[in-house]
Amino acid sequence: MAIRTIREIGDPVLTKVCKEVTEMTPRLRTLIDDMLETMYEAEGAGLAAPQVGILKRIVVIDAGDGPHVLVNPRIVETSGEQTGNEGCLSVPGKTGVVTRPDYVKAVALNEDMQPYELEGTQLLARAICHELEHLDGKLYVDRVEGKLMDVRDVYGDDEEDEDE
Ligand code: ZN
Repeated sequence: MAIRTIREIGDPVLTKVCKEVTEMTPRLRTLIDDMLETMYEAEGAGLAAPQVGILKRIVVIDAGDGPHVLVNPRIVETSGEQTGNEGCLSVPGKTGVVTRPDYVKAVALNEDMQPYELEGTQLLARAICHELEHLDGKLYVDRVEGKLMDVRDVYGDDEEDEDE
């Protein structure tokens, strides 16, 4: 496994629509392992393949109950609403208020290309929405209500929000 470089806002790779995965390959398994390691090292709650420069529909999520590996994920159910601070490993040092569903259910394939279902509330629901949008080239900064803020101004010097 290896830590991969996280692409940052302004990098065109973050604005592209990713391609479906049609078969699992050793190369993609390595990518998934690397994405998990990169997410944990960066202390994020999720990471999408385009954030490490790969335009494939793969995300990893760990909102405290993971890890979850989602290949070709799509959201099939949402309910409720939550409004709170969100961050992104590709937008370092920033946070902003975003409204998301409070409950989300997604269907996907796992790293063995077997059906995988993931449902969650609160941070997990937020992470699912956030990561899946990366696969369509969208960043949370375009959804922020009000201003994008410095993490330091919101949480102080010592604490950081969970970034996705
Ligand atoms: Zn993100």
